[in-house]
Amino acid sequence: MAEHHLKKATWSWIVAPGARNTKRHSGIQYCPACLKNDVRPYFRIHWRFAWHTCCKVHGHALLDRCHACNSPVEYHRLEAEDELITVCATCKADLRTASSRGCVSDALKFQLVADDVLLNGIGTFQSSAMSISPWFELADYFVSLIRVAQRGENQTLSEFLKLIGVQLPMSPPMQPGNHLETLQTHDRERLLAALLPIMSVSKDKFDGALQKSNISKQGLAGHGLVLPAWIKNTSASLPRTLREKSTRLSARIDGPRPRYQVKRMMAKLQRKLDMAHR
Ligand SMILES: [Zn+2]
Ligand SMILES: [Zn+2]
Repeated sequence: MAEHHLKKATWSWIVAPGARNTKRHSGIQYCPACLKNDVRPYFRIHWRFAWHTCCKVHGHALLDRCHACNSPVEYHRLEAEDELITVCATCKADLRTASSRGCVSDALKFQLVADDVLLNGIGTFQSSAMSISPWFELADYFVSLIRVAQRGENQTLSEFLKLIGVQLPMSPPMQPGNHLETLQTHDRERLLAALLPIMSVSKDKFDGALQKSNISKQGLAGHGLVLPAWIKNTSASLPRTLREKSTRLSARIDGPRPRYQVKRMMAKLQRKLDMAHR
């Protein structure tokens, strides 16, 4: 059940097992202490989750690079003669001998919350219950918003996030084209720590921050970002332009349409269906 949801809803939150894409910066994550304790070492499935940056058994930050040569860990590049899955595919150092620092506590807190959402099939945001998919959609959107603010081009956005309690990561901003699951563990760790206060914010505090910062439509839904439907539908304090847009849309859906418009819509739908069956 959970796995089915995971595949459908959180695909963009899974770290891919391969670094063929040159834009990709992350390797497969691991905890050296876990691998060391294994009779037969294996890479845990949850190390592939992009919201995992910490081993909760050992309290260590996960690693995704070789401690000796700094290459991303890619066990699929190992050859039969390597025999052990715990060696670096590039320099053959034993990953079990790597040392790791402690976790960033807010990143671990977010990780545990996201694990619960996945396990229970239900999450909460501003005290509303929601299923896995919209919850991760919101988290995804806010991560993007934090990354935009991190570039330092939008003062109002930074102010809005600060009012919610977000501390922008100190590390230099990452390439906007790189999705969360392609980032190195320590970059993701800092973003997820910054995300925790937004995902646990109360509705009053969130709406208050919207009003106080006087954030614009461009601030929330510009930069190629799409505002999640849940926020659009529930937040009374959204900039007027965003709310008006959705009101106009629903008015148009409710009312009768001229014949030419219906014809045009049918043609468009048909083209979409044709494309989907191709
Ligand atoms: Zn561990
Ligand atoms: Zn190496």
